[in-house]
Amino acid sequence: MVHERSISAADKERLTKLKETVSKARDTFLGYPVSKDFDYSELYDFLEYPINNLGDPYEDGTWKVQTHEMEREVVAFFAKLFRANPSDYWGYVTNGGSESNLYGLYLAREMYPNAMVYFSESTHYSVRKNIHLLNIPSIVIRSQENGEIDYDDFKNTIQYNRHKPAIVLANFGTTMKEAKDDVSRLKSIMRELAIHDHYIHCDAALAGTYGAFIEPRLPFDFKDGVDSISISGHKFIGSPIPTGVIITKRSYRDRISKGVSYIGSLDTTITGSRNGHSALFLWYTLKKLGEEGLKARYQHSVDMAAYCKEKLKEIGIESWTNPGAITVVMPHTSKEVKTKWQLATEENISHIICMPNVTKEQIDSFIDDAATYPVIEEETIDCDF
Ligand SMILES: *Cc1c(COP(=O)(O)O)cnc(C)c1O
Repeated sequence: MVHERSISAADKERLTKLKETVSKARDTFLGYPVSKDFDYSELYDFLEYPINNLGDPYEDGTWKVQTHEMEREVVAFFAKLFRANPSDYWGYVTNGGSESNLYGLYLAREMYPNAMVYFSESTHYSVRKNIHLLNIPSIVIRSQENGEIDYDDFKNTIQYNRHKPAIVLANFGTTMKEAKDDVSRLKSIMRELAIHDHYIHCDAALAGTYGAFIEPRLPFDFKDGVDSISISGHKFIGSPIPTGVIITKRSYRDRISKGVSYIGSLDTTITGSRNGHSALFLWYTLKKLGEEGLKARYQHSVDMAAYCKEKLKEIGIESWTNPGAITVVMPHTSKEVKTKWQLATEENISHIICMPNVTKEQIDSFIDDAATYPVIEEETIDCDF
Protein backbone atom coordinates (compact mmCIF):
# COMPACT_ATOMS: atom_id res chain seq x y z
CA MET A 1 0.00 0.00 0.00
CA VAL A 2 1.20 3.51 -0.72
CA HIS A 3 2.05 5.78 2.22
CA GLU A 4 1.12 3.32 4.92
CA ARG A 5 1.72 4.92 8.30
CA SER A 6 0.11 4.64 11.67
CA ILE A 7 -1.18 7.34 13.96
CA SER A 8 0.91 8.59 16.85
CA ALA A 9 0.77 7.21 20.39
CA ALA A 10 -0.90 10.45 21.50
CA ASP A 11 -3.61 10.09 18.87
CA LYS A 12 -4.11 6.46 19.85
CA GLU A 13 -4.64 7.65 23.37
CA ARG A 14 -7.25 10.11 22.09
CA LEU A 15 -9.09 7.27 20.40
CA THR A 16 -9.13 5.31 23.64
CA LYS A 17 -10.53 8.35 25.48
CA LEU A 18 -13.10 8.96 22.77
CA LYS A 19 -14.30 5.40 23.04
CA GLU A 20 -14.73 5.77 26.78
CA THR A 21 -16.67 9.02 26.40
CA VAL A 22 -18.95 7.71 23.68
CA SER A 23 -19.58 4.50 25.55
CA LYS A 24 -20.46 6.30 28.78
CA ALA A 25 -22.76 8.72 26.96
CA ARG A 26 -24.49 5.84 25.22
CA ASP A 27 -25.22 4.08 28.49
CA THR A 28 -27.15 6.96 29.99
CA PHE A 29 -29.57 8.39 27.50
CA LEU A 30 -33.33 8.05 27.71
CA GLY A 31 -34.37 11.16 25.81
CA TYR A 32 -33.55 10.31 22.21
CA PRO A 33 -35.29 7.80 19.98
CA VAL A 34 -32.25 5.73 19.21
CA SER A 35 -31.87 2.00 19.87
CA LYS A 36 -28.47 0.92 21.08
CA ASP A 37 -28.94 -2.82 21.40
CA PHE A 38 -27.58 -3.84 18.01
CA ASP A 39 -24.79 -6.25 17.19
CA TYR A 40 -23.47 -6.14 13.66
CA SER A 41 -20.21 -7.94 14.38
CA GLU A 42 -21.10 -10.64 11.85
CA LEU A 43 -20.89 -7.96 9.17
CA TYR A 44 -17.57 -6.37 10.16
CA ASP A 45 -15.74 -7.96 7.22
CA PHE A 46 -17.84 -5.85 4.89
CA LEU A 47 -16.09 -2.73 6.17
CA GLU A 48 -13.15 -3.84 4.05
CA TYR A 49 -15.06 -3.06 0.88
CA PRO A 50 -15.96 0.27 -0.75
CA ILE A 51 -19.63 -0.60 -0.93
CA ASN A 52 -21.67 2.08 -2.68
CA ASN A 53 -25.28 1.71 -3.73
CA LEU A 54 -24.99 4.19 -6.56
CA GLY A 55 -28.09 4.66 -8.65
CA ASP A 56 -31.55 3.18 -8.46
CA PRO A 57 -31.69 -0.03 -6.37
CA TYR A 58 -33.87 -1.65 -9.01
CA GLU A 59 -31.58 -0.96 -11.97
CA ASP A 60 -28.57 -2.99 -12.90
CA GLY A 61 -25.77 -0.43 -13.23
CA THR A 62 -22.13 -0.66 -14.22
CA TRP A 63 -20.81 -0.51 -10.63
CA LYS A 64 -20.97 -3.88 -8.86
CA VAL A 65 -19.60 -3.31 -5.35
CA GLN A 66 -23.07 -2.80 -3.99
CA THR A 67 -25.86 -4.30 -1.87
CA HIS A 68 -28.84 -3.44 -4.09
CA GLU A 69 -30.34 -6.88 -3.62
CA MET A 70 -30.46 -6.45 0.17
CA GLU A 71 -31.68 -2.90 -0.26
CA ARG A 72 -34.60 -4.12 -2.38
CA GLU A 73 -35.47 -6.66 0.30
CA VAL A 74 -35.52 -3.92 2.95
CA VAL A 75 -37.83 -1.86 0.74
CA ALA A 76 -40.05 -4.90 0.10
CA PHE A 77 -40.28 -5.62 3.83
CA PHE A 78 -41.54 -2.14 4.64
CA ALA A 79 -43.76 -1.94 1.55
CA LYS A 80 -45.56 -5.04 2.82
CA LEU A 81 -45.72 -3.74 6.39
CA PHE A 82 -47.17 -0.45 5.07
CA ARG A 83 -49.69 -2.31 2.87
CA ALA A 84 -48.44 -0.88 -0.40
CA ASN A 85 -49.78 -2.23 -3.67
CA PRO A 86 -47.45 -5.23 -4.37
CA SER A 87 -47.25 -4.27 -8.03
CA ASP A 88 -46.79 -0.54 -7.54
CA TYR A 89 -44.24 0.24 -4.86
CA TRP A 90 -40.70 1.56 -4.90
CA GLY A 91 -38.23 2.98 -2.44
CA TYR A 92 -34.63 3.14 -1.34
CA VAL A 93 -32.44 3.28 1.75
CA THR A 94 -31.61 6.92 2.52
CA ASN A 95 -29.22 8.66 4.91
CA GLY A 96 -32.01 9.21 7.41
CA GLY A 97 -35.56 10.37 7.96
CA SER A 98 -34.73 13.90 6.82
CA GLU A 99 -33.66 12.74 3.37
CA SER A 100 -36.70 10.47 3.21
CA ASN A 101 -38.92 13.48 3.95
CA LEU A 102 -37.11 15.52 1.32
CA TYR A 103 -37.75 12.78 -1.21
CA GLY A 104 -41.47 12.53 -0.41
CA LEU A 105 -41.87 16.28 -0.75
CA TYR A 106 -39.80 16.30 -3.95
CA LEU A 107 -42.06 13.70 -5.56
CA ALA A 108 -45.10 15.65 -4.42
CA ARG A 109 -43.82 18.87 -5.92
CA GLU A 110 -42.96 17.19 -9.22
CA MET A 111 -46.52 15.89 -9.40
CA TYR A 112 -48.14 19.15 -8.33
CA PRO A 113 -45.80 22.07 -9.09
CA ASN A 114 -48.42 24.64 -8.05
CA ALA A 115 -49.33 23.04 -4.76
CA MET A 116 -49.41 24.38 -1.22
CA VAL A 117 -47.84 22.31 1.59
CA TYR A 118 -49.66 21.94 4.91
CA PHE A 119 -48.02 20.68 8.06
CA SER A 120 -48.65 21.09 11.76
CA GLU A 121 -46.56 23.20 14.10
CA SER A 122 -45.34 20.00 15.82
CA THR A 123 -43.60 18.86 12.65
CA HIS A 124 -39.89 17.97 12.72
CA TYR A 125 -37.48 20.78 11.84
CA SER A 126 -36.23 18.90 8.76
CA VAL A 127 -39.54 19.51 7.03
CA ARG A 128 -39.36 23.33 7.07
CA LYS A 129 -35.84 23.17 5.69
CA ASN A 130 -36.88 20.71 2.99
CA ILE A 131 -39.80 22.90 1.96
CA HIS A 132 -37.41 25.83 1.80
CA LEU A 133 -34.98 23.85 -0.35
CA LEU A 134 -37.78 22.84 -2.70
CA ASN A 135 -39.19 26.35 -2.73
CA ILE A 136 -42.81 25.32 -2.22
CA PRO A 137 -45.28 27.68 -0.54
CA SER A 138 -46.50 26.33 2.77
CA ILE A 139 -48.86 26.98 5.64
CA VAL A 140 -48.40 25.86 9.22
CA ILE A 141 -51.48 24.36 10.89
CA ARG A 142 -52.09 24.57 14.62
CA SER A 143 -51.51 21.53 16.80
CA GLN A 144 -53.77 20.28 19.54
CA GLU A 145 -52.48 20.00 23.10
CA ASN A 146 -51.43 16.38 22.52
CA GLY A 147 -49.35 17.34 19.48
CA GLU A 148 -51.81 16.05 16.89
CA ILE A 149 -52.82 18.34 14.02
CA ASP A 150 -55.88 20.54 14.67
CA TYR A 151 -58.41 19.20 12.15
CA ASP A 152 -60.64 22.29 12.31
CA ASP A 153 -57.73 24.59 11.59
CA PHE A 154 -56.66 22.26 8.78
CA LYS A 155 -60.12 22.36 7.26
CA ASN A 156 -60.47 26.14 7.49
CA THR A 157 -57.03 26.78 6.08
CA ILE A 158 -57.25 24.34 3.22
CA GLN A 159 -60.69 25.65 2.32
CA TYR A 160 -59.22 29.10 1.61
CA ASN A 161 -56.77 27.54 -0.79
CA ARG A 162 -58.99 24.92 -2.35
CA HIS A 163 -58.16 26.11 -5.86
CA LYS A 164 -54.62 24.80 -5.32
CA PRO A 165 -53.44 21.18 -5.14
CA ALA A 166 -52.60 20.18 -1.57
CA ILE A 167 -49.48 18.48 -0.29
CA VAL A 168 -50.06 17.29 3.25
CA LEU A 169 -47.18 16.36 5.50
CA ALA A 170 -48.79 14.09 8.07
CA ASN A 171 -46.96 13.10 11.22
CA PHE A 172 -46.99 9.58 12.50
CA GLY A 173 -45.19 10.21 15.74
CA THR A 174 -44.09 13.80 16.37
CA THR A 175 -40.66 14.33 17.86
CA MET A 176 -41.71 15.59 21.30
CA LYS A 177 -45.02 13.88 22.08
CA GLU A 178 -45.17 11.07 19.53
CA ALA A 179 -48.54 12.36 18.34
CA LYS A 180 -50.07 10.82 15.26
CA ASP A 181 -52.15 12.70 12.71
CA ASP A 182 -55.17 10.73 11.52
CA VAL A 183 -54.57 10.28 7.80
CA SER A 184 -58.12 9.04 7.14
CA ARG A 185 -59.54 12.14 8.74
CA LEU A 186 -57.26 14.46 6.74
CA LYS A 187 -58.28 12.62 3.60
CA SER A 188 -61.99 12.84 4.32
CA ILE A 189 -61.66 16.60 4.91
CA MET A 190 -60.09 16.96 1.46
CA ARG A 191 -62.80 14.77 -0.05
CA GLU A 192 -65.46 16.91 1.56
CA LEU A 193 -63.89 20.04 0.07
CA ALA A 194 -63.50 18.32 -3.32
CA ILE A 195 -59.71 18.80 -3.38
CA HIS A 196 -58.89 15.97 -5.74
CA ASP A 197 -55.30 16.93 -6.48
CA HIS A 198 -53.54 16.04 -3.30
CA TYR A 199 -50.50 14.17 -2.08
CA ILE A 200 -49.98 12.89 1.46
CA HIS A 201 -46.49 12.24 2.75
CA CYS A 202 -46.32 10.52 6.10
CA ASP A 203 -43.35 11.31 8.34
CA ALA A 204 -43.11 8.15 10.40
CA ALA A 205 -39.46 8.44 11.41
CA LEU A 206 -39.74 6.62 14.72
CA ALA A 207 -43.23 5.09 14.88
CA GLY A 208 -43.48 3.85 11.28
CA THR A 209 -41.38 0.80 12.08
CA TYR A 210 -43.94 -0.44 14.61
CA GLY A 211 -47.03 1.37 13.29
CA ALA A 212 -48.52 -1.84 11.94
CA PHE A 213 -48.48 -3.39 15.42
CA ILE A 214 -50.23 -0.61 17.32
CA GLU A 215 -53.60 -1.71 18.71
CA PRO A 216 -56.15 -0.39 18.06
CA ARG A 217 -54.80 0.39 14.62
CA LEU A 218 -54.13 4.00 13.68
CA PRO A 219 -54.38 5.04 10.01
CA PHE A 220 -51.02 5.93 8.41
CA ASP A 221 -50.19 3.63 5.50
CA PHE A 222 -50.85 3.14 1.77
CA LYS A 223 -54.22 1.43 2.30
CA ASP A 224 -55.20 4.40 4.43
CA GLY A 225 -54.34 6.65 1.50
CA VAL A 226 -50.81 8.01 1.84
CA ASP A 227 -48.52 8.44 -1.17
CA SER A 228 -45.17 8.04 0.57
CA ILE A 229 -43.84 7.12 4.01
CA SER A 230 -40.48 7.88 5.56
CA ILE A 231 -38.76 6.18 8.45
CA SER A 232 -35.39 6.45 10.16
CA GLY A 233 -33.41 3.22 10.33
CA HIS A 234 -31.20 4.14 13.27
CA LYS A 235 -34.15 4.84 15.56
CA PHE A 236 -36.32 1.82 16.30
CA ILE A 237 -34.18 -0.72 14.43
CA GLY A 238 -30.80 0.67 15.47
CA SER A 239 -27.66 1.21 13.44
CA PRO A 240 -24.15 2.60 14.05
CA ILE A 241 -24.67 4.83 10.98
CA PRO A 242 -27.67 7.13 10.51
CA THR A 243 -29.98 5.65 7.92
CA GLY A 244 -33.57 5.79 6.73
CA VAL A 245 -36.03 4.37 4.23
CA ILE A 246 -38.48 6.00 1.85
CA ILE A 247 -41.35 3.95 0.45
CA THR A 248 -43.53 5.30 -2.33
CA LYS A 249 -45.19 4.16 -5.57
CA ARG A 250 -43.21 2.98 -8.56
CA SER A 251 -45.50 4.95 -10.85
CA TYR A 252 -44.47 8.18 -9.08
CA ARG A 253 -40.80 7.37 -9.39
CA ASP A 254 -41.23 6.72 -13.11
CA ARG A 255 -42.36 10.29 -13.56
CA ILE A 256 -39.09 11.71 -12.29
CA SER A 257 -36.52 9.17 -13.48
CA LYS A 258 -33.81 10.17 -15.87
CA GLY A 259 -31.17 7.82 -17.21
CA VAL A 260 -27.51 8.61 -16.59
CA SER A 261 -25.09 6.85 -18.92
CA TYR A 262 -22.04 7.41 -16.67
CA ILE A 263 -23.43 5.01 -14.04
CA GLY A 264 -25.61 2.99 -16.44
CA SER A 265 -28.54 3.45 -14.09
CA LEU A 266 -31.39 5.81 -13.32
CA ASP A 267 -30.73 8.87 -11.23
CA THR A 268 -33.81 8.50 -9.07
CA THR A 269 -32.28 9.14 -5.64
CA ILE A 270 -31.26 12.39 -3.92
CA THR A 271 -27.56 11.65 -3.56
CA GLY A 272 -25.33 10.00 -6.10
CA SER A 273 -23.15 7.76 -3.96
CA ARG A 274 -25.28 5.99 -1.38
CA ASN A 275 -24.45 4.05 1.74
CA GLY A 276 -24.49 0.36 0.92
CA HIS A 277 -23.42 -0.72 4.40
CA SER A 278 -26.49 0.71 6.09
CA ALA A 279 -28.74 -1.14 3.61
CA LEU A 280 -26.91 -4.29 4.64
CA PHE A 281 -27.31 -3.49 8.35
CA LEU A 282 -31.04 -2.96 8.01
CA TRP A 283 -31.43 -6.12 5.96
CA TYR A 284 -29.50 -8.07 8.61
CA THR A 285 -31.71 -6.90 11.47
CA LEU A 286 -34.91 -7.49 9.54
CA LYS A 287 -33.73 -11.02 8.70
CA LYS A 288 -32.91 -11.64 12.37
CA LEU A 289 -36.15 -10.22 13.75
CA GLY A 290 -38.79 -10.62 11.08
CA GLU A 291 -42.21 -9.08 11.68
CA GLU A 292 -42.66 -11.13 14.84
CA GLY A 293 -39.41 -9.88 16.34
CA LEU A 294 -40.26 -6.27 15.58
CA LYS A 295 -43.64 -6.74 17.15
CA ALA A 296 -42.07 -8.17 20.31
CA ARG A 297 -39.70 -5.20 20.43
CA TYR A 298 -42.64 -2.85 20.24
CA GLN A 299 -44.52 -4.74 22.96
CA HIS A 300 -41.52 -4.42 25.26
CA SER A 301 -41.36 -0.68 24.62
CA VAL A 302 -45.06 -0.15 25.34
CA ASP A 303 -44.76 -2.14 28.55
CA MET A 304 -41.76 -0.03 29.61
CA ALA A 305 -43.68 3.18 28.87
CA ALA A 306 -46.51 1.99 31.13
CA TYR A 307 -44.00 1.06 33.84
CA CYS A 308 -42.30 4.44 33.56
CA LYS A 309 -45.62 6.32 33.92
CA GLU A 310 -46.50 4.27 36.98
CA LYS A 311 -43.13 4.89 38.63
CA LEU A 312 -43.27 8.63 37.92
CA LYS A 313 -46.68 8.73 39.51
CA GLU A 314 -45.29 7.10 42.64
CA ILE A 315 -42.88 10.01 43.10
CA GLY A 316 -45.60 12.55 42.36
CA ILE A 317 -44.80 13.39 38.76
CA GLU A 318 -47.71 13.35 36.32
CA SER A 319 -46.87 11.99 32.89
CA TRP A 320 -48.82 10.78 29.88
CA THR A 321 -48.54 9.06 26.51
CA ASN A 322 -50.44 9.37 23.25
CA PRO A 323 -52.35 6.19 22.26
CA GLY A 324 -49.92 3.37 21.44
CA ALA A 325 -46.90 5.62 21.98
CA ILE A 326 -43.61 4.67 23.61
CA THR A 327 -42.78 8.29 24.43
CA VAL A 328 -43.61 9.32 27.98
CA VAL A 329 -44.28 13.06 28.19
CA MET A 330 -43.62 14.75 31.52
CA PRO A 331 -42.98 18.19 32.95
CA HIS A 332 -39.45 19.54 32.58
CA THR A 333 -36.90 18.03 34.94
CA SER A 334 -34.05 19.49 36.94
CA LYS A 335 -30.79 20.27 35.19
CA GLU A 336 -29.04 17.34 36.86
CA VAL A 337 -31.56 14.85 35.53
CA LYS A 338 -31.77 16.47 32.11
CA THR A 339 -28.01 16.43 31.65
CA LYS A 340 -27.34 12.98 32.99
CA TRP A 341 -30.11 11.26 31.01
CA GLN A 342 -29.76 13.52 27.95
CA LEU A 343 -33.41 14.49 27.93
CA ALA A 344 -34.66 16.61 25.05
CA THR A 345 -36.68 19.53 26.39
CA GLU A 346 -39.07 21.88 24.66
CA GLU A 347 -40.95 24.72 26.31
CA ASN A 348 -42.09 23.22 29.59
CA ILE A 349 -42.04 19.55 28.75
CA SER A 350 -39.54 16.77 28.55
CA HIS A 351 -39.79 13.16 27.48
CA ILE A 352 -38.45 9.69 27.96
CA ILE A 353 -38.53 7.46 24.94
CA CYS A 354 -38.82 3.81 25.88
CA MET A 355 -36.75 2.34 23.10
CA PRO A 356 -36.46 -1.47 22.96
CA ASN A 357 -33.20 -1.45 24.90
CA VAL A 358 -34.68 0.41 27.88
CA THR A 359 -34.95 -1.80 30.95
CA LYS A 360 -36.84 -1.57 34.24
CA GLU A 361 -33.50 -1.16 36.01
CA GLN A 362 -32.69 1.90 33.91
CA ILE A 363 -36.08 3.42 34.60
CA ASP A 364 -35.68 2.74 38.32
CA SER A 365 -32.32 4.45 38.30
CA PHE A 366 -33.80 7.43 36.42
CA ILE A 367 -36.65 7.60 38.94
CA ASP A 368 -34.14 7.66 41.81
CA ASP A 369 -32.42 10.65 40.22
CA ALA A 370 -35.71 12.42 39.50
CA ALA A 371 -36.69 11.99 43.17
CA THR A 372 -33.27 13.15 44.39
CA TYR A 373 -33.12 16.25 42.17
CA PRO A 374 -36.57 17.76 42.00
CA VAL A 375 -37.19 20.78 39.81
CA ILE A 376 -36.23 24.20 41.10
CA GLU A 377 -38.41 26.86 39.53
CA GLU A 378 -35.57 29.17 38.41
CA GLU A 379 -34.33 26.43 36.18
CA THR A 380 -37.42 26.49 34.03
CA ILE A 381 -36.03 29.21 31.80
CA ASP A 382 -33.29 27.60 29.84
CA CYS A 383 -31.51 30.38 28.03
CA ASP A 384 -28.47 29.63 25.93
CA PHE A 385 -27.39 33.19 25.14
C1 LIG B 1 -35.92 11.90 13.82
C2 LIG B 1 -37.02 12.47 13.05
C3 LIG B 1 -36.84 12.94 11.74
C4 LIG B 1 -35.49 13.05 11.08
O1 LIG B 1 -34.89 11.86 10.92
P1 LIG B 1 -33.30 11.75 10.81
O2 LIG B 1 -33.16 10.28 10.57
O3 LIG B 1 -32.72 12.25 12.07
O4 LIG B 1 -32.89 12.54 9.62
C5 LIG B 1 -37.94 13.40 11.06
N1 LIG B 1 -39.16 13.41 11.63
C6 LIG B 1 -39.36 12.98 12.88
C7 LIG B 1 -40.74 13.02 13.45
C8 LIG B 1 -38.30 12.50 13.64
O5 LIG B 1 -38.51 12.09 14.89
